[in-house]
Formats: sequence, structure tokens, C-alpha cells
Amino acid sequence: MSNLDLIERIELIYGDITKLEVEAVVNAANSTLLGGGGVDGAIHRAAGPELLKECRTVGGCPTGEARLTKGYNLPAKYVIHTAGPVWHGGNQREEQLLAECYRNSLQLASAKAVKKIAFPAISCGVYRFPLERAVKIAFSETLGFLKNNRYPEVVIFVSFGEKSYRYYQEEMQRLRLR
Ligand code: ADP
Repeated sequence: MSNLDLIERIELIYGDITKLEVEAVVNAANSTLLGGGGVDGAIHRAAGPELLKECRTVGGCPTGEARLTKGYNLPAKYVIHTAGPVWHGGNQREEQLLAECYRNSLQLASAKAVKKIAFPAISCGVYRFPLERAVKIAFSETLGFLKNNRYPEVVIFVSFGEKSYRYYQEEMQRLRLR
């Protein structure tokens, strides 16, 4: 598959990830998996208390790794929790760790033959990862994965703000023109 065909398997959406009718949503969690603010809080609120109950049995998730649970009251069947790195200026393997979040999340989705998965901008909120770099990593890791895997068939990048949506659009455009 060419890069252009692969890009057709990526969609951009502006809005709330908890509302999406997809098989799996990725949660930008923290390594305790015991809930937090931002998208993590929104996912737990929408999924209901059963999600936290299951998360307690998982026993945490080291930064860069991912863990799968059920989606409970979400439209999504699965939640894939990944702990993104906190941005400390870029010298603490933040970029590698963010890349691992994408790869490990996609790997779990692939193992369940998930057709559609939605990602928030992992680490780009409270963890302060620079959006522009994060978006490039999201695309390059996803394209690299899609090249070698049939599932997920479609990956959706969800923006919750206009600024992030613009960055995703610009990167998509840049990759199409290459
Ligand atoms: P992190 O701690 O990994 O930085 P945050 O939840 O603070 O996680 O932010 C990650 C990204 O998720 C931010 O870009 C934020 O705007 C976005 N976000 C927050 N709530 C939602 C939501 N309901 N749907 C999609 N994205 C969201």
C-alpha cells in the first residue's frame, strides 16, 4: 500500500471522543489508571463506575505502554488506556515514549481485530507535550503501523480544540502532497 492509500485510512474529527461510534477509544490516562481530569475524566464519566472497577484490577500502566478494558456505557466496545509522557523539555525520551503509546495502543487494537479506533491528542493537555511534534508522531507511528497491519482499518484522530484540529489538518495535507 502506498502512503497515499494509507492516509485514506486516517480520519480527523472535531469533538468529544466519548460520543464516537467506534469499536475502541484510546484514553490518555495516567500510569495509575485510576482516573484523572481531561479526556480521562470524560471517558470515566461516560463509561460509568464499572470502568474504574476494572481499571483497579489492571494494576497500572507504565508510561508508553497500553492496557485494554471494556467500554461499559460508552458506544465503544473497548477502551485502550495508555499513559503518555509528561513533557519535560524533550530530553527525557518524551518523543520515543509518545511513539510507544501509539504503537502499543494500535497493537492491542490489532490483536482484537478492531476496525475503527479513535485517539485523543495524547499528552497534549495537562502533560504539555508540544502539539505540533505530537501530531507528527501520531501520523508517522500510525502510518508505519497501518502499512504492516490490516487492523485497525481506520484510525480517527480526535481534536477537542480548534488549534489542535488545525495542526492535524496541516500535517495530513503535508503528507498527501509529499
Ligand atoms: P494528558 O494528561 O495526556 O495531557 P489531557 O486529557 O489533559 O491528557 O489532554 C489530552 C488531549 O485530550 C488534549 O488535547 C485535550 O484537549 C483533549 N481532550 C480533553 N477532553 C476530550 C474529549 N472529551 N474528547 C477528545 N479529546 C479531549
